[in-house]
Amino acid sequence: MSASSSRFSSAALAPNSVIGIVGGGQLGRMSAVAAAKLGFRAHILTQDANGPAAQVAHQVTLGAYDDHKALEAFARAVDVVTFEFENISADALDCLAQYCPVRPSGAILRISQDRLSEKTFLSEAEIPLAPWMAVTDHASLHAAAEKLGFPFILKTTRNGYDGKGQARVYEASQLEDAFASLAPHPLVAEGMVDFACEISVMVVRGTDGTTRCFAPGLNSHRDGILDVTLAPAPVPEETAERAQTLAVAIAEKLDLIGILGVEMFIDSAGNLLVNEIAPRPHNSGHWTMDACPTDQFDMHIRAVAGLPLPPTLRHSDAVMKNLVGPDDMALWPEILATPGHIPHLYGKAAARVGRKMGHVNILFPYGSLPGALGIQDALGPLAEKPDAGNDDA
Ligand code: AMP
Repeated sequence: MSASSSRFSSAALAPNSVIGIVGGGQLGRMSAVAAAKLGFRAHILTQDANGPAAQVAHQVTLGAYDDHKALEAFARAVDVVTFEFENISADALDCLAQYCPVRPSGAILRISQDRLSEKTFLSEAEIPLAPWMAVTDHASLHAAAEKLGFPFILKTTRNGYDGKGQARVYEASQLEDAFASLAPHPLVAEGMVDFACEISVMVVRGTDGTTRCFAPGLNSHRDGILDVTLAPAPVPEETAERAQTLAVAIAEKLDLIGILGVEMFIDSAGNLLVNEIAPRPHNSGHWTMDACPTDQFDMHIRAVAGLPLPPTLRHSDAVMKNLVGPDDMALWPEILATPGHIPHLYGKAAARVGRKMGHVNILFPYGSLPGALGIQDALGPLAEKPDAGNDDA
């Protein structure tokens, strides 16, 4: 299927057209602002009238994501639909697709929101992955241990985030408890990768099949939540190119329209292994907001609206630090007072533990970023020692 084979027109939307965004969080907020910059109006479907996206949108429909009447009314009021989070059902997107284009498609969401479908799809596309196996019962649990060896990781297939829904299995005696502790089954078992670092690539694909990639970012985590992204990732040029080639291959195989985040491990031998894909703007792409003339949200909205995709130029190197509640908000006065710190706050009311409240971008002259080891100095007092973690939205 080609990128333009939908029964809806793939012609560019005219200024003042309405972009429907399912979901009311920070990714929807920043997408809505990008839409407004291009002369579009954002209409948000959310259950949170005062959420981050609703605060900046042209219009808001309050409704449940499984309420087909609300979905129909929403779809009839917009020219195209996209989504900013993955915990909606692909069926809801299919329902919306009866009335207007949905970009990325429900079929892509169906693949990405289930680890088993995701791994099956990526394996069939010959994308390199950590060795894995579906675990449906006790026999396959023991077969996985046999095939992958210890230690390995058991993961739920759905709704895992911030490292939740995972168990590490170090020896045979832990097998049954780990299996019982995770639900629902089936699970996915994955070989433990001795990774040197985690990177991510944002790839965008337009209605005409044009693909563009941003430079890979290097991600570090704290308490399982993305803490800092360094862009470009301090990896050999050849590795960065390979990462982008993989991201493009995935986008094309998915027949993507819109943006997709591809998270990868780089192992100690320099191999790239794809960990996860997310068909939406991604936290690890927030550095593009200040380091690129056309950022990840601009590119996403352009793709969704059928506009041309310019090359992903980067005028600066960048460090993005997340502001995670409640502790990081103590840094806010200092960020505001520091020249060159570019603050972004999402308008969330309560800085609950682990909640992403905003981020700060810090720019460096193109080609000058000090690399992973220099990042603590570059961040100054904002730096905390990152741990190897999880997550990411
Ligand atoms: P995930 O929910 O799959 O993104 O996993 C969360 C985090 O757990 C990742 O960011 C890694 O830090 C770690 N992790 C996940 N899978 C593996 C693996 N196969 N080997 C080593 N670490 C992993």
